[in-house]
Amino acid sequence: MIDEERYTPMSATAATVVPTAPAANRPYRLASHGGQPGTRPVRVGDVVFGGEQIIVIAGPCSVESREQVLDVAFAVRACGATVLRGGAYKPRTSPYDFQGLGEDGLRYLAEARERTGLLIITEVMDSEDVDLVAEYADILQIGSRNMSAFRLLQRAGRTGLPIMLKRGMQATIREWLLAAEYILDTGNDRVLLCERGIRSFDTEYTRNCLDLNAVPVVKAESHLPVVVDPSHGTGNAHLVGPMTAAAIAAGADALMIEVHPDPTAALSDGKQSLTPDQFDAVLNLARPVAAALGRAL
Ligand code: PEP
Ligand code: MN
Repeated sequence: MIDEERYTPMSATAATVVPTAPAANRPYRLASHGGQPGTRPVRVGDVVFGGEQIIVIAGPCSVESREQVLDVAFAVRACGATVLRGGAYKPRTSPYDFQGLGEDGLRYLAEARERTGLLIITEVMDSEDVDLVAEYADILQIGSRNMSAFRLLQRAGRTGLPIMLKRGMQATIREWLLAAEYILDTGNDRVLLCERGIRSFDTEYTRNCLDLNAVPVVKAESHLPVVVDPSHGTGNAHLVGPMTAAAIAAGADALMIEVHPDPTAALSDGKQSLTPDQFDAVLNLARPVAAALGRAL
């Protein structure tokens, strides 16, 4: 049930200058804000998504070893991240590429949480892994390739854990909101939407086209907090800084950024991963953008 007291008004983004028509009769009944624009905060422990504080989720693409994940965890915490990411089950294009460490990876994440106090987000790829991943994760990630795996969405939703739903790389915004509806319809109201770039015709300089249109569109349609992933959204480390700043300007409630101690040696997504120093610099450059919009980063 929606508690109207808990809504925060839309933050002072450019999107609020021209009011949008109220969302009425949308097929995503639970994801819609129902005519009252504003973001309904999602709380996970002490972390609040959709409030004044922009939440930073950071960590490696894949959990590669205990040392790697602990290293990154301490480094990103020092820069201001409050949620640690890292895949233990990896959806790789090729079956011959590194597939993740499975439960060992989950254990390393849990140890990092214990030692740093960071929350843990990690991907669950298959219904049969949901219970196991849910034993370790604070937030379940549903990846782009699984956005339309509706039975997985329902299964993950029923754990009651918060779910971050990445946008399918070829999904429309409507399809994405309807996928979120599958989770909300299980009675789980802690859903985060993550824009991570869509496929485009230009693959020479970018891996995906980060669709920042989606941020104010979702804000105008839905009460769900929006996460932006400029790492997968661009595919290139040097583009992560500018698109982080742009995501904040567009109204993002959280950022997901890939950080690796040595991106050149990463087992996945090294090209788009930042070193801890680069990550620190990106956040420092983006902070004034957040401040200009009345938000903290
Ligand atoms: C990831 O976050 O590492 C990942 C696999 O993302 P996506 O599902 O957006 O490709
Ligand atoms: Mn990745």
